[in-house]
Amino acid sequence: MSQLPECDYRKPQRLSFADDEARFPWLVTLLDAYATIDQGVSAAIRSEQLNGRELACAKGCSSCCATHQDIPVYPLELMGMSWYVIEKLASPLREQLKQQLENIEKINTCPFLLDGACSIHPMRPIACRQFNVLDKACAEGEDAFHSRRKDVMIPIKRFTDEAFDTMLPFYGIRKKGERRKAIKQGKLHSVAKVMRDCNWQTLPEKMHAFDHKNK
Ligand code: SF4
Ligand code: SF4
Repeated sequence: MSQLPECDYRKPQRLSFADDEARFPWLVTLLDAYATIDQGVSAAIRSEQLNGRELACAKGCSSCCATHQDIPVYPLELMGMSWYVIEKLASPLREQLKQQLENIEKINTCPFLLDGACSIHPMRPIACRQFNVLDKACAEGEDAFHSRRKDVMIPIKRFTDEAFDTMLPFYGIRKKGERRKAIKQGKLHSVAKVMRDCNWQTLPEKMHAFDHKNK
């Protein structure tokens, strides 16, 4: 298990877990989709920079992870987040997260926020990847989406559509024409869940079982 370096928006790279991708074909799909999303975020940042604007989001800035209550997450993303936590998350974050998830009812932030940083950063969902604020970092408790929408970066649709197109076969929508129609109709949104409402309480037990099997 290893911690991965932070993603650099200037040089987005597809994450690679060769052994795991050989075991889990769905992981290939998810990582391909995330690579497209990250390229889209990078292109949007570059475009904002041409207009004299700068990304305010930075490592250590995380009040959005405490404020946002309704972050959507798709089933394929849930699988990726769970897999990462169970099989990849290294110490000391591993123990800290286990403890946090065992006491999930006591926290009012995203369950994966640890010491002001995202413990699953490489596998954070699309909604987190695409939520970026320009010029001025959010104040504590501020939700820039409501307080100053003009500073929230708008994702470039063609990248989002391409990522959804990559993911749709996982949901049984395989033919090109059907995929195009599903994207146009926003069909994928109907399978999204709210991240904080998901059953993360079962993860610590699965982490224990994985650790026991691999010690
Ligand atoms: S969205 Fe706001 S709080 Fe979150 S990282 Fe960006 S500037 Fe910081
Ligand atoms: S998954 Fe990570 S980036 Fe997204 S809200 Fe939670 S802590 Fe923040």
